[in-house]
Amino acid sequence: MGGNVNVNETNAGQRIINDREFALRLIADPTSAEARQVVEAADGLRSETVGDSIHLRGLIEFSNYCRNNCLYCGLRRENGKVSRYRMTPAEIIAAAENGAELGYKTVVLQSGEDPAYSGDTIAEIVREIKKLGLVVTLSVGQRIPQDYELWRSAGAERYLMRHETADPLLYERLHPGQSLVKRVALLKILKELDYQVGTGFMVGLPGQTAETLWYDLKLAGELQAEMVGIGPFIPHPETPLGQEPGGTLEQACLMVALTRLILPQALIPATTALGSINPLGREAALRAGANVVMPNLTPKKYRPEYEIYPNKICLGEEAAECRGCITRRIESLGRTVACDPGHNSIWLGRRSGS
Ligand code: SF4
Repeated sequence: MGGNVNVNETNAGQRIINDREFALRLIADPTSAEARQVVEAADGLRSETVGDSIHLRGLIEFSNYCRNNCLYCGLRRENGKVSRYRMTPAEIIAAAENGAELGYKTVVLQSGEDPAYSGDTIAEIVREIKKLGLVVTLSVGQRIPQDYELWRSAGAERYLMRHETADPLLYERLHPGQSLVKRVALLKILKELDYQVGTGFMVGLPGQTAETLWYDLKLAGELQAEMVGIGPFIPHPETPLGQEPGGTLEQACLMVALTRLILPQALIPATTALGSINPLGREAALRAGANVVMPNLTPKKYRPEYEIYPNKICLGEEAAECRGCITRRIESLGRTVACDPGHNSIWLGRRSGS
């Protein structure tokens, strides 16, 4: 299939998956007229499928300890310049209470891979937060399936674990001692446990090609991910990739748009990383198919230490200021903040048996 493409065609998502030449041509030039058409089409599809309201997820970054050594990450265990912290269960629950008071419907508990929090400890935290009437999303990395099962029974509804790159060799290079096969197997287990599962990937990684990004899209589609997070690679000076060039806003927004076409019902965040490379980066993603924003609820004293990448935005603001700022930004786009919990509709349909 060559020649001009009508990106408004109803099967555009299938075409991206099946038509290699089409997909690679788009991905290779994210500033082309055709790519801009795709972004517009994805924005239109987003409005039709998931509507114009935007879901807020309050992010609590509760530990910056990590046993892993991912080459791009400022929290990697060999970065001795990080001042490490762990929030206590009481601090985590208090941050969630603050979120509930500010009107959040979901909190996302995120950390490095930190074995100091046992499966039982996290389950207890989830149970306490559920008493506040909040939806709980976990993002604590690779654990044994029994932990995932325990947390699901404790009430956690969603799990975020990006695959980061669908190229198995690049994955192994970037994540020493880890494998893509295992990561994907865990994502499938999470699906079987009836979580809403979030995967995602980085754009602009050293060694990544247009074809790799196409595989990233195909993998998200194959997993039927309920959520897909896409962020630009941002080089962190205290990592082995500190001197590499980073990903661009245009590349990332195009991948957001293509993801929307492939997974029309997905929850797709306008990531903080996009807001960190461009002051209006999140707004651009929200115009390219995204429908979620994740403002920070982490207590201010800890925020600067959760530096996966440098120059992260919103480090100095109180949670209430972030809430106000993000609402103004959303309203400036003519969109509204959602009042419902913001579950993936396919997941909801499965649960009601429809
Ligand atoms: S990317 Fe995640 S798992 Fe890897 S070092 Fe950073 S915090 Fe740890």
